Amino acid sequence: MSKNIIVAGAGHGGIVAGYYLAQNGYNVTVYEKGKKNRLGYPQVDAIHLDGFEEAGIPVPEDYKVKRTPIAFCVLGTDLPPLVQGDSGDTYNVEIDRKALYKYLIGMAEDAGVKFVYDCEIVAPIVLGSRVAGIKTSKGDFYADLVIDACGLYSPVRSQLPEFMNITRQPGPFDVLHTYRAYFSRLKNAPEPEHKYLISLMPGENCGLLWVITYDDYIDVFVGSFCDLTQDYIDHKLSLLREANPHLGKKMIKGGGIVDIPIRQPLSIMVADGYAAIGDAAFMTIPIKGSGIGYSMRAGKMLAECVMEDENGLYNEETLWKYQIEYFDEVGSTSAVLAIIKNLFPVITQEDLIYFFGEGLVTSDDLEKFGSEAGLAKIISSLRPGELRDKAKKLIGNQNVRRMLTGTAKNIAMYKIVEQSLKENFSRAAAKKWADAYDNFFESIKE
Ligand SMILES: Cc1cc2nc3c(=O)[nH]c(=O)nc-3n(C[C@H](O)[C@H](O)[C@H](O)COP(=O)(O)OP(=O)(O)OC[C@H]3O[C@@H](n4cnc5c(N)ncnc54)[C@H](O)[C@@H]3O)c2cc1C
Repeated sequence: MSKNIIVAGAGHGGIVAGYYLAQNGYNVTVYEKGKKNRLGYPQVDAIHLDGFEEAGIPVPEDYKVKRTPIAFCVLGTDLPPLVQGDSGDTYNVEIDRKALYKYLIGMAEDAGVKFVYDCEIVAPIVLGSRVAGIKTSKGDFYADLVIDACGLYSPVRSQLPEFMNITRQPGPFDVLHTYRAYFSRLKNAPEPEHKYLISLMPGENCGLLWVITYDDYIDVFVGSFCDLTQDYIDHKLSLLREANPHLGKKMIKGGGIVDIPIRQPLSIMVADGYAAIGDAAFMTIPIKGSGIGYSMRAGKMLAECVMEDENGLYNEETLWKYQIEYFDEVGSTSAVLAIIKNLFPVITQEDLIYFFGEGLVTSDDLEKFGSEAGLAKIISSLRPGELRDKAKKLIGNQNVRRMLTGTAKNIAMYKIVEQSLKENFSRAAAKKWADAYDNFFESIKE
């Protein structure tokens, strides 16, 4: 008899997992609180091609575009921006969120996945040690496995029993509050030098702003770890208008506030009858907040792990392989980036000026940093002369030196912690890993 799988929430990773499982004869139903054809935000997302390729999902050709170089600047200074992706020969997928949903849901439905809309999930149903289903506004539903794709504040994950050792809620500095809106473009203003401009905001109210210029409109983003008030947003918009005279005042669409997880992935993603995916498992890049590519990749990993469980147990032991594979392929790099993220509140405007002005970080470094291998690639590709130059500059600035040596020490410590993530499952070892990992990230918060 075919096994019943519930996907709780139509998150991207959950849809991809459901697509593969339905294709292979599983009975998959997605329960989603949103309305049919109304999912997603009114925004264009940039997704690495790898996200589609590694997930085995064909790239929607109409949305494959040459990557726009990204210029990073320090707002309020004359320092020339650092530009990432200037080579111009790499491709991204840039796709309207609603179009992406239509595409993925279409594929899943063709494979046999059923979607139930207007259905608010309120809690998991836990029987003994097992997640057995979900409580919803349309009644209780039971399944052999619940895939939690309900996003950052999942009502499933946040109400799991303590003995499952799954972090229920993100902490305060784990979440970036974001405002995104599309404004008119003033055609009589001069053409901007950079089409995609990110301004870094260091210090106490840390976060970032972006202005992406299209022919007819401008995409504006305000992200901060502090609560976003209307006054705060208006202030940032006026700063952006001063620096970008072509940014008009007429809002075309958007204007909503949404939270993104910016932290290390969940230490434990699985329990008996349960697997978390996507934002529900904090699977974003903890510096940029992009999470669609990682979620889709995780969707394929999870589906393969479920299909390998021929006895249909779907318990913490058989689902453990999914967690291990995710950490091997993605999670380990994400965790290191989450350590680097801790620099945000301590870094000052002066430090950033030093970084940019003294060439401690170059456009070339940013290019490598944007790749999967990230920091490791930068360090391993430095020639001895460059390494010496950077080291000298570091010695010249006490604050920057202290921050970077602290970060390097934390990364080294994390690598030791990571050794406690064991491929072979035992409940005791999993708990030991989760305690070590969670305590480590708590201990390095500034
Ligand atoms: C402003 C902004 C810009 C972003 N830009 C990018 C980008 O350019 N590229 C990129 O890769 N990522 C981007 N992201 C991140 C990306 O949105 C997420 O990482 C990605 O969508 C993965 O999240 P998810 O699909 O798991 O969860 P979500 O997108 O949160 O989806 C969860 C689903 O579950 C449903 N749900 C939630 N609660 C319930 C409930 N109680 N009952 C029933 N259903 C429920 C929701 O309606 C939703 O459909 C951006 C995020 C934001 C906020």
